Amino acid sequence: MGMDKQQILDFVDKFADKMAEHKQELTEYDQHIGDGDHGINMARGMAAVEEKKPAFQDKDIGDILKTVGMTLVSTVGGASGPLYGTAFMKAGMAAKGKEELTDDDLIAVFDAMIGGIQTRGKAQQGEKTMLDAIIPAADAFKAAVAEGKDTQQALEEADKKAWEGVEYTKTIRATKGRASYLGERSIGFQDPGASSISYMIDALTEASGKPVGESEATDTVGIVIVSHSPKIAEGVLDLALEMAPNARIAATGGLSDGSIGTDLTAVRKAIDTVMSPAGVIVLIDLGSAYMSSEMAVEMSDHPELIHIVDAPLLEGALFAAVESSVGNDIDRIMEVMRKSKIEPKF
Ligand code: ADP
Ligand code: MG
Repeated sequence: MGMDKQQILDFVDKFADKMAEHKQELTEYDQHIGDGDHGINMARGMAAVEEKKPAFQDKDIGDILKTVGMTLVSTVGGASGPLYGTAFMKAGMAAKGKEELTDDDLIAVFDAMIGGIQTRGKAQQGEKTMLDAIIPAADAFKAAVAEGKDTQQALEEADKKAWEGVEYTKTIRATKGRASYLGERSIGFQDPGASSISYMIDALTEASGKPVGESEATDTVGIVIVSHSPKIAEGVLDLALEMAPNARIAATGGLSDGSIGTDLTAVRKAIDTVMSPAGVIVLIDLGSAYMSSEMAVEMSDHPELIHIVDAPLLEGALFAAVESSVGNDIDRIMEVMRKSKIEPKF
């Protein structure tokens, strides 16, 4: 029950990923009723937080959250900088000195964030702001904990209420922030800040899952395909999923601009997607993909679980997908994959 420090760090990473991923979308929401910078603001702020990670990852949860807040205040222009910044700084104070958060601590963190947003922004629920997502989420979390639900279930309910809150913001007029200048014309559009808060609660919910190593023994081995070519990566993935539709498999290829190469960030993300206590097998197409993969392993929180296997990309991926999806362990799968190299095709 509750969340440990590793899960809080994971939450921060996931929140940063989501802000990068939804940057354009959040900015579009803000174009309708504001000045079109909310996604840019949040993505910039959380990217700065990620850069600070080496400085805070060894601190306690209180200090981690406080540093996130201070970084957001100093890097985000617009209202959301001081609002999110205060929310995280207050959350840090509520979690002062802690290495893990119980459900009651999480409730205190939610309340502190809400208190921070209200002190800074002087808004109430119903004014078409981030409060319309975070207040119902916190209420749902409290209710679910009181009913004896576990942390992740309680967060799932909170998350659902947050997104319902976003829907609700479409029906009301903004009376705080830039959107209030539009008056009645703000009706019909969802609030950007309520949307980013809901992505934040998505991230918290995902991070609250069972930490690697404590999951059920039935977890299957994850597989990552790393090619220099996005097309090859996609094609091998298609074939593997055709053979083993339930395989825990991800593929990445090419650089972020679509050109040929291997991208460390993308490899790390693919590994995270399939991370499993049963282990992860990484397959590469050409020798130089080994370097990105090796770095990704070194930077992972669980390097001991990841194995880069020297096997032909296509055959290796197909064997691994089939063997892992029937629940075989990693040693057996690697053995089969190595053999896939020498087995004659005809
Ligand atoms: P700006 O409005 O300065 O351009 P952003 O676009 O980054 O800043 O953030 C806008 C979001 O901030 C809004 O969608 C709303 O959710 C939130 N917001 C603005 N003012 C307030 C306030 N006074 N209280 C709570 N939230 C607010
Ligand atoms: Mg704006």
